[in-house]
Amino acid sequence: MIIVAIGAYWTHVSKSLFDNEQRLLMNDIVGAEASAIERRLSRSLSTTYILAQEIKRNNGIFENFESYAEEVISTIGGVSNLQLAPSGIIRQIYPLGGNEKAIGHNILNDDDRRREAQLAVAEKRLTLAGPFELLQGGVAVIGRNPVFLNQGGVEEFWGFASALIYLDDLLDVTELRNLERRGYSYQLSRLHPDSGSVNVFARSQQALSGNSLSVAVNVPNSQWTLTMSRNPPGSIISRTFWGYLASLLVACVLVYLLYSVLQHPLKLQREITEKTQILDDMLSYDNLTGLPNRHLLSKILANTIAESEHYYTQAAFLFFDLDDFKRINDSMGHDAGDHLLKQIAERLRDAVREEDVVARLGGDEFGMLLQNVESETQVATIADEVLAVMEEPVKIESREYTISTSIGIVMIPSDGSQVPTLFQNADMAMYAAKKEGKRTFCFYNEEMQASVLQQLRIEEELQGALDNHQFSLNYQPLVDLVDDCVCGYEALIRWYHPERGMIYPDSFIPVAEETGKIVDIGYWVIRETCEFIKLRKLRGEVSVRIAVNLSTKQFNDPNLVSFITQVLEDTGVEPRLLGIEITETILMKDVGDAIMKLDQLKGKGITVSIDDFGTGYSSLAQLKRLPVDTLKIDRSFVMDMDSDWSDRMIVEGVIAMAHKLLLRVVAEGIESEKHLALLKKYGCDVGQGYLFGKPVPADDICPSHTVQSRAQG
Ligand code: C2E
Ligand code: CA
Ligand code: CA
Repeated sequence: MIIVAIGAYWTHVSKSLFDNEQRLLMNDIVGAEASAIERRLSRSLSTTYILAQEIKRNNGIFENFESYAEEVISTIGGVSNLQLAPSGIIRQIYPLGGNEKAIGHNILNDDDRRREAQLAVAEKRLTLAGPFELLQGGVAVIGRNPVFLNQGGVEEFWGFASALIYLDDLLDVTELRNLERRGYSYQLSRLHPDSGSVNVFARSQQALSGNSLSVAVNVPNSQWTLTMSRNPPGSIISRTFWGYLASLLVACVLVYLLYSVLQHPLKLQREITEKTQILDDMLSYDNLTGLPNRHLLSKILANTIAESEHYYTQAAFLFFDLDDFKRINDSMGHDAGDHLLKQIAERLRDAVREEDVVARLGGDEFGMLLQNVESETQVATIADEVLAVMEEPVKIESREYTISTSIGIVMIPSDGSQVPTLFQNADMAMYAAKKEGKRTFCFYNEEMQASVLQQLRIEEELQGALDNHQFSLNYQPLVDLVDDCVCGYEALIRWYHPERGMIYPDSFIPVAEETGKIVDIGYWVIRETCEFIKLRKLRGEVSVRIAVNLSTKQFNDPNLVSFITQVLEDTGVEPRLLGIEITETILMKDVGDAIMKLDQLKGKGITVSIDDFGTGYSSLAQLKRLPVDTLKIDRSFVMDMDSDWSDRMIVEGVIAMAHKLLLRVVAEGIESEKHLALLKKYGCDVGQGYLFGKPVPADDICPSHTVQSRAQG
């Protein structure tokens, strides 16, 4: 607006300057034209003085008027004709041709002309009359000079000596017509002697414009007015117009530039916001499933915590991973794994309400935030649904897989007012659920925290346990079910803690496994067992096989075979007296590698047993390929055998199949005679369990430990 104002002002000033300049110029022109008219009239009308002089000289008689007039006109010029009107009556005109009608006309009797004529007589002055429409045609002015004769000292009016000038001729000597062509307008006017109104008697075709200038033209005994204006040439309009337009355009351009300059940071800001949003989305959503990721879920959780604390509402967070996802991923490939995750994600999304959030937290971990829940019962119902939904088979490459999960649940805000705490507690609850047996859910409670703390303590204390000789081995007998004799022992580790007393392996082996400490512990077990075998031999006791449990990490240790070889060599123990027990999970990772290792161990004469058979996923068909000697049926099948028909069927079937594969079968966890009877009936080879004897320290093993001695009490 400032620029438009400046531009308009500048245009206005320059227009004013231009107008002023034009006015000055016009002033000159109008002045010059007025003088030109005055000069011309004065020169032309001087003819009347010459005539008057001649009349006076001849005392009122003018004999050679024609020749005299002709000479005067040709000398002075500018006059159309000269007239003599004695007593006001036109008597003589030169040249007469065309003016005959005027002869005899009494001027002083003519209504139109009398006034000026009388004025001339009264003032005794040359008076310009007209312009008039002439009787003989045309428009003209007439200069009437009253002639007075001296009659005996008295001035007596004789008549008029007049000169007639056609208006056109008069204007022809000025530049007015020329100027008209150059865009000027003009107007010649006078005040009418009779009416007193303005009588315009000559004008340009183009009317005057507003910006006009008038000057007086002094004519004998009267006054005319010459008014002129310059028609604003197109260029002026356009100059002003262009001036305003240019200001407007310049202003627009500047406004646009200013706008762009000012907008630039805003634009940048917008771009940054957009990019940040995209990045945020990338950071907030999981690429594969499109679900919110841990990052976004954390934000939402934080909001939910705040809201629930503020409005006293409740929410629940479910945390779970897919059991055995790794196995599918490893065996079917990553594409199949991705496909599975996508299907699961879709199902989960469909399973919850609009306001709930399903998130992928990484790998095969999922989270589910249930907003505004009323009770744990409601959450439990939803958790049940989730379990059911997850267990519907997933089809991958025309094969169907059943996925199961264990869910940890935390209530918000009661189970944590910080996001990391919620995650941690949900994780604990999930592990508790897994422990309870897969395919279930578990609500977080404070004891879990305690058990985790205990785990942490164990982790710390495990470090020093080996050095401080806090471990020892217990031995549990294995009984041959054909001859009821002890045919071997299983070495089971115990931790004698200086403060907490004896700790069972289930409480620390998983921690040792996690921390990797298990490898050293395992080597200690192998060495200790071999030392014991050696001792028994020295004592002259019956040589029976003693088996040790090998954890996954230990089995995968590249030094395993060489270590065992070394220990056997060091202690001089026959390899056939050492057995190893491995679980099926060991075989899952890299079967080829496992087979190679087992071949090496078996090659030395060491017996290999598959422990806890039935809890893992290997089938008997898979076992066919493995170089193993013995199958240990898991305790869970044996325990419920007397009450559970299906467990009985499984045990019977497994024993039969194993025998077909030429494997010996050991049944774990025999606690009753009923178990024993059934197992014997099914043809089980070896038994282990509290019925025969609990695991006991080396010193407590009775040298002649047989079923016989048990029978005798
Ligand atoms: P496991 O290899 O299945 O060992 C058998 C477990 O069953 C032992 O528990 C034993 O005491 C128990 N058991 C035996 N008969 C009966 C019975 O009739 N009824 C009941 N209820 N239980 C019976 P333990 O000694 O607590 O060992 C638990 C697990 O810890 C073992 O299961 C094994 O997996 C692991 N473990 C023990 N010692 C070692 C070790 O030196 N190294 C490794 N890696 N793991 C070990
Ligand atoms: Ca075992
Ligand atoms: Ca076992």
